[in-house]
Amino acid sequence: MLQLDAVHIAYGPIQAVADATIAVEPGQIVAIVGANGAGKSTLLKAIAGLVPLAAGGIRFEGRDIAALPAHRRVAAGIALSPEGRQVFPDQTVRDNLELGAYSRRLGQADLARAMAAQYELFPRLRERQDQPAVTLSGGEQQMLAIARALMGEPRLLLLDEPSLGLAPLIIREIFGIITALRARGVTVLLVEQMANLALGVADRAYVLETGRVTLEGSGAELLQHPRVRAAYLGGG
Ligand code: ATP
Repeated sequence: MLQLDAVHIAYGPIQAVADATIAVEPGQIVAIVGANGAGKSTLLKAIAGLVPLAAGGIRFEGRDIAALPAHRRVAAGIALSPEGRQVFPDQTVRDNLELGAYSRRLGQADLARAMAAQYELFPRLRERQDQPAVTLSGGEQQMLAIARALMGEPRLLLLDEPSLGLAPLIIREIFGIITALRARGVTVLLVEQMANLALGVADRAYVLETGRVTLEGSGAELLQHPRVRAAYLGGG
Protein backbone atom coordinates (compact mmCIF):
# COMPACT_ATOMS: atom_id res chain seq x y z
CA MET A 1 0.00 0.00 0.00
CA LEU A 2 2.81 2.36 1.01
CA GLN A 3 6.37 1.89 -0.11
CA LEU A 4 9.29 4.07 0.93
CA ASP A 5 12.30 3.32 -1.18
CA ALA A 6 15.80 4.39 -0.03
CA VAL A 7 14.44 7.61 1.43
CA HIS A 8 16.79 10.37 2.58
CA ILE A 9 15.51 13.43 4.41
CA ALA A 10 17.60 16.38 5.57
CA TYR A 11 17.05 19.62 7.43
CA GLY A 12 19.79 21.76 5.93
CA PRO A 13 23.03 20.09 6.98
CA ILE A 14 21.28 17.67 9.36
CA GLN A 15 20.63 14.26 7.86
CA ALA A 16 17.46 13.15 9.71
CA VAL A 17 16.66 9.97 7.72
CA ALA A 18 19.12 7.97 5.62
CA ASP A 19 18.34 5.25 3.11
CA ALA A 20 15.09 4.12 4.72
CA THR A 21 13.17 1.41 2.90
CA ILE A 22 9.83 0.67 4.52
CA ALA A 23 6.75 -1.18 3.30
CA VAL A 24 3.23 -1.04 4.68
CA GLU A 25 0.76 -3.67 3.49
CA PRO A 26 -2.97 -2.92 3.50
CA GLY A 27 -4.80 -3.88 6.68
CA GLN A 28 -1.67 -3.92 8.82
CA ILE A 29 -0.47 -1.99 11.81
CA VAL A 30 3.15 -1.15 11.11
CA ALA A 31 5.27 0.32 13.91
CA ILE A 32 8.39 2.42 13.73
CA VAL A 33 10.19 2.43 17.04
CA GLY A 34 13.36 4.17 18.11
CA ALA A 35 14.84 6.64 20.54
CA ASN A 36 14.33 10.37 20.71
CA GLY A 37 15.59 12.08 17.58
CA ALA A 38 15.89 8.87 15.56
CA GLY A 39 13.90 10.44 12.72
CA LYS A 40 10.51 8.82 13.32
CA SER A 41 8.42 11.99 13.18
CA THR A 42 10.38 13.18 10.20
CA LEU A 43 9.43 10.03 8.30
CA LEU A 44 5.73 10.52 9.01
CA LYS A 45 5.92 14.17 8.01
CA ALA A 46 7.57 13.18 4.75
CA ILE A 47 4.80 10.68 4.02
CA ALA A 48 2.20 13.37 4.76
CA GLY A 49 4.02 15.77 2.44
CA LEU A 50 5.11 18.22 5.15
CA VAL A 51 8.84 17.81 4.56
CA PRO A 52 10.45 17.01 1.19
CA LEU A 53 12.59 13.99 0.35
CA ALA A 54 16.23 14.71 -0.40
CA ALA A 55 16.41 11.41 -2.29
CA GLY A 56 14.47 8.18 -2.72
CA GLY A 57 10.91 7.38 -3.65
CA ILE A 58 7.49 7.12 -2.08
CA ARG A 59 4.54 5.28 -3.55
CA PHE A 60 1.00 5.03 -2.22
CA GLU A 61 -1.35 2.47 -3.74
CA GLY A 62 0.95 2.15 -6.70
CA ARG A 63 1.19 5.84 -7.39
CA ASP A 64 4.30 8.00 -7.03
CA ILE A 65 3.29 10.67 -4.51
CA ALA A 66 6.72 12.24 -3.84
CA ALA A 67 5.80 15.43 -5.67
CA LEU A 68 2.21 15.74 -4.37
CA PRO A 69 1.52 18.60 -1.95
CA ALA A 70 0.17 17.66 1.48
CA HIS A 71 -3.49 18.43 0.74
CA ARG A 72 -3.43 16.18 -2.32
CA ARG A 73 -2.07 13.35 -0.17
CA VAL A 74 -5.00 13.84 2.21
CA ALA A 75 -7.34 13.59 -0.75
CA ALA A 76 -5.49 10.44 -1.86
CA GLY A 77 -6.36 8.78 1.48
CA ILE A 78 -3.49 9.56 3.88
CA ALA A 79 -4.09 11.31 7.22
CA LEU A 80 -1.63 12.36 9.91
CA SER A 81 -2.38 12.56 13.61
CA PRO A 82 0.63 14.65 14.63
CA GLU A 83 2.92 14.40 17.62
CA GLY A 84 1.63 16.55 20.48
CA ARG A 85 -1.94 16.25 19.11
CA GLN A 86 -2.21 19.89 17.95
CA VAL A 87 -5.95 20.14 18.41
CA PHE A 88 -7.42 23.63 18.19
CA PRO A 89 -7.69 24.46 21.90
CA ASP A 90 -10.44 27.09 21.82
CA GLN A 91 -12.62 25.24 19.33
CA THR A 92 -15.15 22.73 20.55
CA VAL A 93 -14.73 19.01 20.00
CA ARG A 94 -17.37 19.20 17.26
CA ASP A 95 -15.62 22.09 15.51
CA ASN A 96 -12.27 20.28 15.67
CA LEU A 97 -13.88 17.29 14.00
CA GLU A 98 -15.53 19.44 11.35
CA LEU A 99 -12.15 20.99 10.57
CA GLY A 100 -10.81 17.47 10.02
CA ALA A 101 -13.26 17.07 7.15
CA TYR A 102 -12.87 20.61 5.84
CA SER A 103 -11.05 19.69 2.65
CA ARG A 104 -13.75 17.16 1.70
CA ARG A 105 -16.49 19.80 1.39
CA LEU A 106 -19.10 17.37 2.68
CA GLY A 107 -22.79 18.13 2.77
CA GLN A 108 -24.49 18.28 6.17
CA ALA A 109 -25.71 14.69 6.01
CA ASP A 110 -22.31 13.24 5.13
CA LEU A 111 -20.62 15.38 7.74
CA ALA A 112 -23.07 14.17 10.37
CA ARG A 113 -22.46 10.58 9.31
CA ALA A 114 -18.68 10.96 9.51
CA MET A 115 -18.98 12.57 12.92
CA ALA A 116 -21.31 9.85 14.19
CA ALA A 117 -18.72 7.27 13.16
CA GLN A 118 -16.11 9.00 15.32
CA TYR A 119 -18.47 9.29 18.27
CA GLU A 120 -19.17 5.57 18.00
CA LEU A 121 -15.44 4.85 18.19
CA PHE A 122 -14.84 7.50 20.88
CA PRO A 123 -17.96 7.77 23.07
CA ARG A 124 -16.16 10.18 25.41
CA LEU A 125 -15.93 12.68 22.59
CA ARG A 126 -19.66 12.52 22.01
CA GLU A 127 -20.25 13.41 25.67
CA ARG A 128 -17.87 16.35 25.32
CA GLN A 129 -18.79 17.58 21.85
CA ASP A 130 -19.68 21.12 23.01
CA GLN A 131 -16.57 21.59 25.18
CA PRO A 132 -13.53 23.51 23.98
CA ALA A 133 -10.71 21.07 23.26
CA VAL A 134 -8.49 22.75 25.88
CA THR A 135 -10.81 21.46 28.61
CA LEU A 136 -10.26 17.81 27.62
CA SER A 137 -7.77 15.57 29.42
CA GLY A 138 -4.57 14.64 27.60
CA GLY A 139 -5.99 11.25 26.68
CA GLU A 140 -9.20 12.78 25.38
CA GLN A 141 -7.21 15.28 23.33
CA GLN A 142 -5.29 12.36 21.84
CA MET A 143 -8.60 10.70 20.98
CA LEU A 144 -9.75 13.95 19.39
CA ALA A 145 -6.56 14.19 17.33
CA ILE A 146 -7.09 10.66 16.03
CA ALA A 147 -10.80 11.25 15.42
CA ARG A 148 -10.04 14.46 13.56
CA ALA A 149 -7.63 12.60 11.29
CA LEU A 150 -10.27 9.92 10.72
CA MET A 151 -12.83 12.53 9.57
CA GLY A 152 -11.08 12.41 6.21
CA GLU A 153 -11.89 8.68 6.06
CA PRO A 154 -8.25 7.83 5.30
CA ARG A 155 -7.16 4.40 4.18
CA LEU A 156 -3.76 5.03 5.78
CA LEU A 157 -3.53 6.67 9.20
CA LEU A 158 -0.14 8.03 10.30
CA LEU A 159 -0.05 8.13 14.07
CA ASP A 160 2.78 10.00 15.79
CA GLU A 161 3.48 9.10 19.46
CA PRO A 162 -0.10 8.53 20.62
CA SER A 163 1.14 7.57 24.13
CA LEU A 164 3.01 10.83 24.68
CA GLY A 165 2.51 12.13 28.22
CA LEU A 166 -0.42 9.84 29.01
CA ALA A 167 -1.13 7.56 31.96
CA PRO A 168 -0.90 3.77 31.44
CA LEU A 169 -4.63 3.12 31.63
CA ILE A 170 -5.51 5.64 28.94
CA ILE A 171 -2.60 4.48 26.78
CA ARG A 172 -4.06 0.99 26.89
CA GLU A 173 -7.43 2.38 25.82
CA ILE A 174 -5.86 4.21 22.90
CA PHE A 175 -3.97 1.13 21.76
CA GLY A 176 -7.27 -0.76 21.94
CA ILE A 177 -8.70 1.81 19.56
CA ILE A 178 -5.75 1.42 17.20
CA THR A 179 -6.41 -2.30 16.91
CA ALA A 180 -10.13 -1.58 16.44
CA LEU A 181 -9.20 0.66 13.53
CA ARG A 182 -7.29 -2.15 11.88
CA ALA A 183 -10.36 -4.35 12.27
CA ARG A 184 -12.33 -1.66 10.42
CA GLY A 185 -9.91 -1.78 7.53
CA VAL A 186 -7.79 1.29 8.30
CA THR A 187 -4.09 0.68 7.77
CA VAL A 188 -1.99 2.27 10.51
CA LEU A 189 1.62 3.42 10.48
CA LEU A 190 2.48 4.06 14.10
CA VAL A 191 5.50 5.86 15.50
CA GLU A 192 6.20 5.21 19.17
CA GLN A 193 8.88 5.51 21.80
CA MET A 194 6.98 2.99 23.92
CA ALA A 195 8.37 0.07 21.96
CA ASN A 196 6.73 -2.67 24.01
CA LEU A 197 3.24 -1.31 23.33
CA ALA A 198 3.83 -0.62 19.67
CA LEU A 199 5.45 -3.98 18.96
CA GLY A 200 2.66 -5.69 20.89
CA VAL A 201 0.05 -4.55 18.35
CA ALA A 202 2.20 -4.34 15.22
CA ASP A 203 1.99 -6.83 12.37
CA ARG A 204 5.30 -5.53 11.15
CA ALA A 205 7.85 -3.19 12.66
CA TYR A 206 11.03 -1.28 11.99
CA VAL A 207 13.68 -0.01 14.38
CA LEU A 208 15.07 3.38 13.42
CA GLU A 209 18.42 4.45 14.85
CA THR A 210 19.91 7.84 14.00
CA GLY A 211 17.90 7.94 10.80
CA ARG A 212 18.63 4.41 9.62
CA VAL A 213 16.52 1.26 9.67
CA THR A 214 18.62 -1.17 11.70
CA LEU A 215 16.11 -3.98 12.27
CA GLU A 216 12.83 -5.11 10.81
CA GLY A 217 10.50 -8.01 11.39
CA SER A 218 7.10 -8.90 12.77
CA GLY A 219 6.13 -7.11 15.98
CA ALA A 220 6.45 -10.40 17.86
CA GLU A 221 9.92 -11.07 16.44
CA LEU A 222 11.22 -7.66 17.41
CA LEU A 223 9.70 -7.94 20.89
CA GLN A 224 11.90 -11.01 21.37
CA HIS A 225 14.99 -9.59 19.70
CA PRO A 226 17.90 -9.26 22.16
CA ARG A 227 18.99 -5.88 20.78
CA VAL A 228 15.50 -4.48 20.99
CA ARG A 229 15.08 -5.83 24.49
CA ALA A 230 18.37 -4.32 25.62
CA ALA A 231 17.90 -0.93 24.00
CA TYR A 232 14.15 -0.26 24.19
CA LEU A 233 12.53 -2.65 26.62
CA GLY A 234 14.64 -2.11 29.70
CA GLY A 235 17.03 -5.02 29.39
CA GLY A 236 16.31 -8.73 29.92
P1 ATP B 1 11.05 12.45 18.84
O1 ATP B 1 10.38 11.24 19.31
O2 ATP B 1 11.87 13.13 19.89
O3 ATP B 1 10.17 13.37 18.08
P2 ATP B 1 11.96 11.44 16.34
O4 ATP B 1 12.51 10.07 16.21
O5 ATP B 1 10.57 11.65 15.90
O6 ATP B 1 12.15 11.93 17.81
P3 ATP B 1 12.64 13.57 14.59
O7 ATP B 1 11.77 14.56 15.29
O8 ATP B 1 12.18 13.05 13.30
O9 ATP B 1 12.96 12.37 15.55
O10 ATP B 1 14.09 14.22 14.42
C1 ATP B 1 15.13 13.62 13.68
C2 ATP B 1 16.33 14.55 13.61
O11 ATP B 1 16.02 15.69 12.82
C3 ATP B 1 16.79 15.09 14.95
O12 ATP B 1 18.19 15.17 14.94
C4 ATP B 1 16.17 16.46 15.00
O13 ATP B 1 16.93 17.32 15.81
C5 ATP B 1 16.20 16.87 13.56
N1 ATP B 1 15.08 17.78 13.23
C6 ATP B 1 13.77 17.52 13.36
N2 ATP B 1 13.01 18.56 12.95
C7 ATP B 1 13.89 19.52 12.54
C8 ATP B 1 13.76 20.83 12.00
N3 ATP B 1 12.55 21.38 11.76
N4 ATP B 1 14.89 21.52 11.71
C9 ATP B 1 16.11 20.98 11.92
N5 ATP B 1 16.31 19.74 12.44
C10 ATP B 1 15.22 19.02 12.73
